[in-house]
Amino acid sequence: MIHDCIDLHTHSSASDGSDSPRDVVRKAAAAGLNVIALTDHDTLDGLDEAEDEAQKQGIVFVRGCEISAATPWGEAHFLGLWIPRDSAAVKRLEKALGAIRQKRLERNLAIADRLRALGFGVSYEQAAELAGGRIVGRPHFAELLCLLGAVKDRKEAFRTYLGRDGLAFVPRRLPTPQEAITMLKEAGALVSMAHPRLLRASVTELDALLTEIVPSGLDALEAYHSEHDAGDVRECVELADRFGLQLTGGSDYHGHPKPNIALGRGKGGLRVRLHVYNALKAYRDRCGLGV
Ligand code: AMP
Ligand code: ZN
Ligand code: FE
Ligand code: FE
Repeated sequence: MIHDCIDLHTHSSASDGSDSPRDVVRKAAAAGLNVIALTDHDTLDGLDEAEDEAQKQGIVFVRGCEISAATPWGEAHFLGLWIPRDSAAVKRLEKALGAIRQKRLERNLAIADRLRALGFGVSYEQAAELAGGRIVGRPHFAELLCLLGAVKDRKEAFRTYLGRDGLAFVPRRLPTPQEAITMLKEAGALVSMAHPRLLRASVTELDALLTEIVPSGLDALEAYHSEHDAGDVRECVELADRFGLQLTGGSDYHGHPKPNIALGRGKGGLRVRLHVYNALKAYRDRCGLGV
């Protein structure tokens, strides 16, 4: 059991995690966490179920989601936290997320076409079956190519076919960071840039990106994350200080797809203390948003 700890970044089977939304919350409670957010990619579908379980378990639940955006340094991810329930603004967010999911479907169909044109007997339906109701993506096409014996492993599948320079690569048209932030802000959420140090950008470049996107309403940086080392955390804390941003933290738990990442603990050393939540709550109060 860990005490006075929280986790503001987790995924369930509503996107690409292996646990149901209810199980994510159950496991969070069992681990002793005081606060848990569910932040599935491009969907709000798991939130009601997770919130219901949090009520049963007596732990605080934060409604969230994660949206990807395109930058010159790769995908930047934005977490919306405290997404209100059932307002007209949230309906608009749902619609925007639906459009993002539709673009992914079209991209996946195009990848299947490309692979078939290259002579492989694969279909979108087979990829969807492998995904088992979760988000369908390139990893599933990689698995299909492995199963066909077309490549020796996933790495080769990405290098030869599915990666940026691959023969069946089809880019996904992603929102800009400003669009992603605005989508979440307009729904009434607090917006944090997820795992900023996973971007292939130097601190100077990250500084330049933040200068561009903070005015869109970015509230926070996810300084504490399973893939951030102590130096990354320090750099995020310094950037947040410079830009007047809050701090958030979470494990990015996915269940089996990321077996070494545990709820609230990340790879073992992660601890996001309750005071991070209290500071965010105070900030939301100051902004008149409430919690
Ligand atoms: P998608 O969202 O469908 O474009 O797929 C993105 C996912 O594919 C990422 O989350 C990674 O898990 C995986 N992926 C992307 N590039 C590579 C790569 N070069 N090697 C292995 N896996 C990759
Ligand atoms: Zn994910
Ligand atoms: Fe992410
Ligand atoms: Fe994530």
